[in-house]
Amino acid sequence: MIPENFEYHVPKTLEEAARLAVQFADDGKLLAGGHSLIPMMKLRLAVPKHVIDLGRLEGLRYIREADGKIEIGALTTHFQMESSTLLKAKCPMLPETAREIGDVQVRNKGTVGGSLAHADPAGDWPAAAVALDAEFQGVSTTGERWVPAAEFFVDLMTTSLNPGEILTAIRFPVLPDRSGDAYIKHPHPASGFAVVGIAARVTLDPKGVVETARVGITGVNSKPYRAQAVESALTGKSPSSKNLAAAASHAADGIDANGDLYASGEYRSHLAKVFTERALALAVERAAVK
Ligand SMILES: Cc1cc2nc3c(=O)[nH]c(=O)nc-3n(C[C@H](O)[C@H](O)[C@H](O)COP(=O)(O)OP(=O)(O)OC[C@H]3O[C@@H](n4cnc5c(N)ncnc54)[C@H](O)[C@@H]3O)c2cc1C
Repeated sequence: MIPENFEYHVPKTLEEAARLAVQFADDGKLLAGGHSLIPMMKLRLAVPKHVIDLGRLEGLRYIREADGKIEIGALTTHFQMESSTLLKAKCPMLPETAREIGDVQVRNKGTVGGSLAHADPAGDWPAAAVALDAEFQGVSTTGERWVPAAEFFVDLMTTSLNPGEILTAIRFPVLPDRSGDAYIKHPHPASGFAVVGIAARVTLDPKGVVETARVGITGVNSKPYRAQAVESALTGKSPSSKNLAAAASHAADGIDANGDLYASGEYRSHLAKVFTERALALAVERAAVK
């Protein structure tokens, strides 16, 4: 339970952090909230020789609206997401997701950027990120770039961030008119992580027919995915219970579902369908009251 010795670096600016991240790309690790990295170091599943603490980069802690999108600094904590009035008004799926993460201590220290960069297959944020086609800003000594969610998650705990690249911000689209969204999960009874987590957003046309549906799923596969078969089955249909159930039945189509001691692949696929139906129903209900 004691990590290997390491050298601790505390950059004061993003430029300094980027330099250190590149210098120690092979044997260093960035530290954000530490709620995934430190347990891994204690278990010696991660043995970095250099730890680069991003914690002093206050400029990476913000939630703001820009160009019709919500932009979130990578060091924003789960608690800041949960309690943001801007998010509650403009992208309510995000505070709803934050509320589902761990306990008060975890939400107080853990960060959105750390969680997304960690890409835990049972993490909660990835569902919202893929459902809403979030964009990820990576910064390195050579410059910055934006990566769409569809390209960000590569595999189990693997993202398309380059070695030494720092995730600095994430952008989400705001909730359009006549829309509702929801995040619900089936938590693992011991860890609280998502056995299945479903992020859904539905936009209705003026007649109440589904104009667009977006569904992101975490926990089921080695990486989060958009359930496009569900989305296309619902688009152009009335959001009746029958149509929601029929669309949700496609939630695990073509997916090789993870199995473990708690939930077999078959059970996870079943949960994905049940929770997709519930998340869609909630999103439709919220869209209808607008
Ligand atoms: C008891 C407990 C319960 C939890 N329950 C849940 C849960 O229910 N749902 C859930 O989703 N999560 C849960 N978590 C995980 C928690 O959300 C972590 O906060 C999160 O996974 C990692 O964020 P962090 O800021 O702590 O990152 P860290 O632990 O500091 O870092 C995680 C990884 O990301 C890298 N990294 C961090 N920041 C950046 C960056 N800006 N750019 C590039 N790489 C970066 C690090 O190098 C490291 O590899 C739980 C954790 C604990 C300890």
